[in-house]
Order: sequence, then C-alpha cells, then structure tokens
Amino acid sequence: MSLTTVSTAPATAGTSYTDLEALRRQDPELAEILVAEAARQADAIQLVAAENFTSPAVLTALGSPLANKYAEGYPGARHHGGCELVDVAERLAVDRAKALFGAEHANVQAHSGSSAVLAAYAALLRPGDTVLAMGLPYGGHLTHGSPANFSGRWFDFVGYGVDAESGLIDHEEVRALARAHRPKAIVCGSISYPRHLDYAAFREIADDVGAYLIADAAHPMGLIAGGAAPSPVPYADVVCATTHKVLRGPRGGLLLCGAHLAERIDRAVFPFTQGGAQMHTIAAKAVAFGEASTPVFTAYAHQVVANARALAGGLAAAGFGIATGGTDTHLVLADPSPLGAGAREARGRLAAAGIILDTCVLPDGDTRGLRLGTAAVTTQGMAGPEMARLADLLASAVRERPGVREEVRELVGRFPPYPA
Ligand SMILES: *Cc1c(COP(=O)(O)O)cnc(C)c1O
Repeated sequence: MSLTTVSTAPATAGTSYTDLEALRRQDPELAEILVAEAARQADAIQLVAAENFTSPAVLTALGSPLANKYAEGYPGARHHGGCELVDVAERLAVDRAKALFGAEHANVQAHSGSSAVLAAYAALLRPGDTVLAMGLPYGGHLTHGSPANFSGRWFDFVGYGVDAESGLIDHEEVRALARAHRPKAIVCGSISYPRHLDYAAFREIADDVGAYLIADAAHPMGLIAGGAAPSPVPYADVVCATTHKVLRGPRGGLLLCGAHLAERIDRAVFPFTQGGAQMHTIAAKAVAFGEASTPVFTAYAHQVVANARALAGGLAAAGFGIATGGTDTHLVLADPSPLGAGAREARGRLAAAGIILDTCVLPDGDTRGLRLGTAAVTTQGMAGPEMARLADLLASAVRERPGVREEVRELVGRFPPYPA
C-alpha cells in the first residue's frame, strides 16, 4: 500500500503537512512504523469486526492542521478565539449526521464510543442508579457494567443474557428483569450480537417500567446509515455510536437524541466529561457522513451483510458452529471446536496464516468462539467468490494445512485497501 495516497499535493506552498517523505527525513524510526503498519494491514485479511479502512479523504482530514485548533464549547459559543472555520466544520458534521440518521440532534464531539456512552449516562442518570444492559458474558460492552469500567463502579448494573440454544435475546427475560429491578435506563447494543435488535420491543419494555432507552449502536451504525439494518433513532431516547466501525469514518464517537434532550447531551459531553473538541476528527467525521450518504455507501452496507451471510454459510459448510445459525449484520460468531481447536488456539493459527480476528464469548456465556466482521474486506472490494475462498482458508488454517499463508497473501494482493 502507498501511504502517499494521503500525501496529496498541498493547496498552498509551505503546507505539506501530510508528507511521508518529510517525516522519514525527520524521524525515520517513527516513519518506518507507519509504513510497516500500512504494509501489515494490506498483507493480511482483516476480519476484526470493529475495524475498517477509512478513505484517503478521511485520512487527509485527520492529518490536517485542524489538529492544532483548540475549540472548547460548541459552534458559536467557544471558549477560544479563531474558531470561525472549525465552527463551520462542526456544523457540517452535525447537519450531515442529523440528515443521515434522521435525528433531531447530533453531538459529534465524543472522543470515542465509550465517551459517548459515558455522556449518555451522565445526561440521564445519577450515580447509584440501576441500569439493565446485556451482561458482559453474553456480549455486553465494558461500558455496560464491567467492574473494571466506570459504568460498573458508578451504577448498579443488572445483566440480561441470550438464549443458550438459539443465541437470541429473550425479550420476556428482559421484561421480567426490568419489572423486578425497575431500572432508570435500559441499554440495548452489543459487541457480538449478529442479529438485528428489536428496538420497538425494547422501547415497549422501557415504557412499561418508566425507563430511558439507550441504544449503543457502535457496531451496526454503518449498516443503519446504509439502510442495511433497522434504525434505533425512532425508539431510543439516546443513540450512542462509534464512527470507525462499519461506518468507516475516523476513530470517534457520536450521540443522537431528540431536541428535548439536546442540551443535556451536549453539556454531558462538554464540559461534564470532555474538554476541547478534536476538530481534525470532527472534520473527518463530516467527510465520513458525507460518504455514508451516497448510493455507493448504501450498496457497500448491503454488500457487507451479503458477505457476512456468505462467510457464515461457508464456515458452517466447513464444519464451524455458527451462533444463531447465521447473521443479519457484518458480524459472524463461529465456534472452531468441531475442527479440533479452542478459540485462542484457532486465533493463533489463523494469525500465523495472515487471518486476523478476535475471540469472543459464545451464547452459552462460557465457551469462547471467534468473532469475525466483513466491513474491512468489503471495503477492499471482496464479494461472494472471495467469501467462499475465505471460509475455506479459515478452515484450512485452523486445521493447520501448510501453505495457507501464501494463499492468503495471493488473495489480499488482489484487493489492496488503498490502490495506488
Ligand atoms: C466498540 C464499542 C464501544 C466502544 O467504542 P470505543 O471507541 O472503543 O470506546 C462501545 N459499545 C459497543 C457496543 C461497542 O461495540
């Protein structure tokens, strides 16, 4: 891959701010890391479900002098001078996010998905409040009540699970827990649930017990943008998301809510939990929202799902167990044990073959499996035939058939993430 795709000629003399050659001259040690990491990404199959390849346009915004600007506050009400232009960039990001997701209000300042969730809790809850969320052993995120995270320390979390057999959320279990514990908020969203969430069902349960509904759509937000997954916006009081997963923008967070919660959400981000906004990232979010509102992205989002379904089918045929029997999204949860390997062992064998992915708990809440996502490979242009090949390569790698590393290299070589 060429990092030079991001070092386009500067518009004005003396502003060669994304020049790799200049970095190489000044700091060869660091420049080599950038080049080697770009090569690592292009030389293996990236199936980490939370990752993607952002566009050169997004990378350009990230590497721009907007990174220099201090901008505490919101457009038109900053605590720093010189914010005229970054105000325009942030308004653009906000307007594009609102239009893209059909939301009354958007906050684009959250530094990450976790910061977005923290802000949602800060806006709606008090320390000690009870919150009902998917339990961590079933795919809840750290911010859904882990004792190692602020959420588990400051709130009283109750966890719902998934049915051990079907792998699906049991809404009657959620309702029973909600009635028994009377939570102040219910969180829906997960790091590994491969099916669409029934947001209307969660809304109904939340209304039944007088709770807020927070949708943590960090994973499916890009599918939602592309119309390939249902939107939580009409149902949830607050929607939290990341911008860097299927959505394919810069690493960052996003919050959506109704107009009546706009001020509470904004104040929960700044000044309650964050300081200065990262204007280069916000500009890059604006670029990504612009990209996500095009027909090309709609086609991409649908292809991501088609690829995940094809991959799940291929893996099932190759002997893997597939949680919930398939997928509605970019996520596939696979059990490698029928092929004679535990999840960690399989992840190691796959990494050695150039196939990069994570392990994750399976629906029984006990055994670990493999979590795969098709966002990155779909950005690279892979489709049905490549998914069949990929399933075959995964099975071969787990079974330690020799020669898989070379076959992986040949496959990814035909789909460079940043074509020259
Ligand atoms: C990825 C994710 C997050 C956190 O995002 P970060 O940017 O890593 O902080 C939060 N919730 C869910 C459900 C996620 O999948």
